[in-house]
Amino acid sequence: MAEQEYDYDLFVIGAGSGGVRASRIAASHGARVAVAEEYRVGGTCVIRGCVPKKLLVYGSHFAEELQDASNYGWTVEKMHFDWPTLRDAVLKDVDRLNDAYTTTLENNKVERFLERATITGPHGVRLASGRDITAKYILVATGAWPLMPEFEGNEHCITSNEVFHLPELPRRIVIQGAGYIALEFAGIFNALGSAVTVVNRSDAILRGYDETLRDRLLQITMARGITYRFNCPITKVEKQEDGCLHVWVKGAQDPIPADAVLVATGRRPNVAGLGLETAGVELGERGEIRVDDTAKTTCDSIYAVGDVTDRVQLTPVAIREGHAFADRVFGNKDVRIDYACIPSAVFSQPPLAGVGLTEGQARNAYGNVKVYSSDFRPMKNIFAHRPERGLYKMIVDAQTDRVLGIHMIGPDSPEILQAAAIAVKAGLTKADFDATVALHPSMAEELVLMR
Ligand code: NDP
Repeated sequence: MAEQEYDYDLFVIGAGSGGVRASRIAASHGARVAVAEEYRVGGTCVIRGCVPKKLLVYGSHFAEELQDASNYGWTVEKMHFDWPTLRDAVLKDVDRLNDAYTTTLENNKVERFLERATITGPHGVRLASGRDITAKYILVATGAWPLMPEFEGNEHCITSNEVFHLPELPRRIVIQGAGYIALEFAGIFNALGSAVTVVNRSDAILRGYDETLRDRLLQITMARGITYRFNCPITKVEKQEDGCLHVWVKGAQDPIPADAVLVATGRRPNVAGLGLETAGVELGERGEIRVDDTAKTTCDSIYAVGDVTDRVQLTPVAIREGHAFADRVFGNKDVRIDYACIPSAVFSQPPLAGVGLTEGQARNAYGNVKVYSSDFRPMKNIFAHRPERGLYKMIVDAQTDRVLGIHMIGPDSPEILQAAAIAVKAGLTKADFDATVALHPSMAEELVLMR
C-alpha cells in the first residue's frame, strides 16, 4: 500500500502518559495521528494512579500536621475528616486533567476515538463501532491492569482502580500485597483513621528497595498502628449479611473482619483481546509485548511503549519512551532511552526514595563498596515529640569514589532525592558531595555531611 493510502501515519492505541506524548510529538513532526482510548484520556497515572493517589497522600497528611500542631502553639478544635469531600475534590481534579490532556491532543490536531480499538493486521485497526482504519505505524500504549489473584470471594475485593471511588471511608481495611500501591494506601487509610491490616504472601515489603530502609518503614508504620501479617496470602473472602467481609488468610484460625479489601499484587500488561496475534506481535513470559531498544515489536510497523512492555512501570519512563519513539520514527532523530539510574519513590508515610544501586546490588557488581549513612531525627519531629527518625544511605565505589546509589526514608525524601539523582546520574563522586557546603538547617544537608 502506498504511504498516502493509509488513513493515518500513526495510530496510537491508549491515551495514557506514553500514548499522549507519542501522539503529540509525532504530530509536531508533521505526522497525521489518531489515538483510540476506551476509558478516559490521561491513562492510569492521571485518572486512577499517581496523581489522585498523591492528592490523597496530601489530604491524609493533615492528620499528622494537625496532631503535631499543638506543639507549635496551635489549638485546633472540632477536628473532623470527611471522606466524600476529599474523594470528590480529587475526582474533580481528575476531570480537569482529563480535559487538559484532551485539549493537548486537540491543539496538536490528533484525532481522538473514544472507544476500544483492536489490531487486525500490521497496518490495520478496528474500532469498537466497527470502522476499519489503516495506518503506516501502530503504537500500542495500553498500559497495565491490576492483577487479581484467584481465591474464593475475590469479587468482594477492590483494586487501585476502584479505591478512589469508595462510597465511605472503611473503618477497617485489609490490603493484600506489600509493594508500592499497598504501602501507599496503607499510609493513606491509616492516617485517615481506618484500622489497616497489610497481608503479604512473603515476609518482605517493597522488594528491590534498600533493606535497612524497608526495615525502618516497617518499624515506623507499625508504631503508627498498621498491622502486618506476613506469609499470609488471602485464601477466601466471605461477605456477611451485614456487609462485613471476613478475610481468611493462609494458616489463620479466624478471619480478619473488614469493611473493604484492597488487592495490590502487581499490574500485568494490558494485552487481552488486542489482536496482537493478527500482526505477529510476540509476547514475553510475563505477557508483556516484546520490543527492541527502539520500541519496535516483532512486527516492523508496530511499536509499543510504557507498562505494556513491562520494562520499568513508571510514568516518566513511559513518557520518555513515547517521546523517543515519535522523535525516531517521525523526527529523524536517533534517541534511545537510558534506563540506568532511574529515581523512584514510594509515597508511604514516611516516604521512601532511591536512585542507583542498593548496597547489595553494588556489592555484587563492584565488590568493594563504601556505605555512608545518616540516621537522624528531623528537627520538625524533635519539636513535635515525634520519635520517628530519617535514614539516608549513600553507596560509593571504593575504587573510584563514584556515588553508585542514594537511598532515603524520611519527610520529603522524594523531593530531596530528585535533585540528588542528578548528581548520581552525572557520575559525581563522594568528594564532590563533600565539597558542597551544607544548606542549613535542612534535612537535605545530611547528603553532604555523611562521614
Ligand atoms: P508491586 O510489584 O510493587 O508489589 C506487588 C506485591 O504483591 C508484592 O508485595 C508481592 O509480594 C505481592 N504479590 C505479587 N503477586 C502476588 C500474587 N499472585 N499473590 C499474592 N501476592 C502477590 O505491585 P503494585 O501493585 O504495588 O504496583 C504495581 C506497579 O505500579 C509497581 O511495580 C510500580 O512500578 C507502579 N507504581 C509506582 C508507584 C510510584 O512510583 N510511587 C506507585 C504505585 C504503583 P512479594 O513481594 O512477596 O513477591
